[in-house]
Amino acid sequence: MTYEEQRQQMVQTQLISRHICDSRVIKAFRKVPREEFIPKKNRQDAYGDYPLPIGEGQTISQPFMVALMTQALELREDDCVLEIGTGSGYQVAILAEIAKKVFTIERFSELSERAQATLKKLGYKNIFFHVGDGTCGWPQHLPYQAIVVTAGAPHIPFPLIEQLSEGGRIVIPIGGTFGQTLIRARKSVGSMEEERICGCVFVPLIGKFGWHKDDRNSF
Ligand code: SAH
Repeated sequence: MTYEEQRQQMVQTQLISRHICDSRVIKAFRKVPREEFIPKKNRQDAYGDYPLPIGEGQTISQPFMVALMTQALELREDDCVLEIGTGSGYQVAILAEIAKKVFTIERFSELSERAQATLKKLGYKNIFFHVGDGTCGWPQHLPYQAIVVTAGAPHIPFPLIEQLSEGGRIVIPIGGTFGQTLIRARKSVGSMEEERICGCVFVPLIGKFGWHKDDRNSF
C-alpha cells in the first residue's frame, strides 16, 4: 500500500471508527503526510496505531491521541494556538491546517530544528517556533484561544492559564511521570473548569512549572 492509501485507511480505522467526528480534524489527518515526521528507519510504521521514537528519548504520539487532543481543543479558523512540545512537528502541522496561527515550543533544539525543516518543506507559513521551557508559555503572542501540552505534567503550569484567553481551552495530560489523565480545562471568569477525557501515557514535561530533572533519575 502507498503512504496515501495507508493514511486514508488510518483515518477510517483508527479515527472515524473511534468517534473522531470533527470534520476539520478528519480533513487535516487525510492531508498531512505523517511519514515525513518519522525518522527513516521507522517510516514503514508511520501509520501504525502506536507512538514511535523520534530521537532524544522522545516520541510522536499515536495518531488517535493527536486527533483526540486536537478535537478537544474545539478550534475555530481564526484561533491562535500554543503547543508545548514540538517534537516531530506532526501535531503542529495538524493544528496549522485548522487554526490561523500556531506557536510551538520545544526544549531540545535538535528536535525543533528537524521539525522546522520538515514543516518548511511541506510549505507551512503559519507556524512559529521557539526553543526553550514551554511551561513558562510564550507571553509575546498572547492571548491564545487554545493551548495543547503534548508532555505529561504534575499540574497545569500557571503561566499557561494566564496566557489563555477568556473562554479558551487547554488540553493537557496531568498525573504522575508514568501515567496521566488527559484533561480539558476551559477558562471561565478567571477560573478553570476541568473535564477528564481519558487515561494516557506521555513523556514528562520538564521545566520550571513542570517536573524537575531530579524528580526521576532517568529523565
Ligand atoms: N507534539 C509532538 C510530540 C512530542 S513528545 C509530536 O507531534 O511529535 C513531547 C515533547 O515535549 C518532547 O519533544 C519533549 O522534548 C518536549 N518537552 C518536554 N518538556 C518540555 C518543556 N518544558 N518545554 C518544551 N518542550 C518540552
